[in-house]
Amino acid sequence: MQNRHKTIVVIGTGGTIAGTAASAADHTGYTAAQINVAQLLAAVPTLSGQPLEVLQLAQVDSKDMDFGVWRALALAVDQAVARPEVAGVVITHGTDTLEETAWFLQAVLAPAKPVVLTAAMRPSTALSADGPQNLADAVAVAAWPQARGVVAVLAGRVHGAADVRKAHTYRVDAFDSGDAGPVALVEEGRLRILRPWPQGPATGVQSLLALEPTAWPWVEIVTSGAGAQARAVQALVRAGVRGLVVAGTGNGTIHSALESALTEAQGQGVTVWRASRCGMGPVLGDHPRGWPSAGSFTPAKARVALMLELMRA
Ligand code: ASP
Repeated sequence: MQNRHKTIVVIGTGGTIAGTAASAADHTGYTAAQINVAQLLAAVPTLSGQPLEVLQLAQVDSKDMDFGVWRALALAVDQAVARPEVAGVVITHGTDTLEETAWFLQAVLAPAKPVVLTAAMRPSTALSADGPQNLADAVAVAAWPQARGVVAVLAGRVHGAADVRKAHTYRVDAFDSGDAGPVALVEEGRLRILRPWPQGPATGVQSLLALEPTAWPWVEIVTSGAGAQARAVQALVRAGVRGLVVAGTGNGTIHSALESALTEAQGQGVTVWRASRCGMGPVLGDHPRGWPSAGSFTPAKARVALMLELMRA
């Protein structure tokens, strides 16, 4: 049963869910981040009467997400979950970088209460906008007493922060959890649990929040593929990069031209991790040069994880 007496804090950050287009038929030529979170909630009549508190933290297209917003968001979420009267937090977000924000918040805060990211593939003005149902489902999950940690709720599915990724450019059910599969389904405001709730790290990397984002370790992704160029790595090392995630071919394999440059980079103190550009599946086994696998993380999520790892070091 949902916890309908405790407060849910709903934090708006922008995205297509808050986007508007000139025509109801237009699903691509819209402007993201136009309407505020109170207006988003007003479009969901089933939420009236539920104790909701609203905070408009940012208003950005999430393709432009930056570390300043991340830091402010993490601090706001941390404050909200610390309040005894708060059951959980909902964050409205763009779909483009949602998987990165999800892992960032999970790894930094390791929240004991539910922190639920939601988004939409269609703008609020669309004939059949997906935002209102996603928002209703996200509030249902945030009020679910057994829920905890950071999850994403879209198209009736609950995805864990470590697994969620945007897997389609256009479809309304654009998100999946790779091999892990969704944690639960949301059906008529109730959760049908499909697998054990993800645990996430026991403690967060809160030390990051004490630093200005300009001081956060700089990590980039280099993609391996036909004709890969050592000079891409060399340029990043010259510019001061601290970590490199290689979006490798297949099972994290790396073009020999990049391998030599990465070995040199490592000699200069740059940390190298291997992920895969496949989009599905873990990177298994050891690499002859000892570069660790990023497990099942997408390259985008591995980049966030490596940044946090460098903070711990
Ligand atoms: N560019 C948009 C954003 O990420 C896309 C979306 O939300 O679906 O904010």
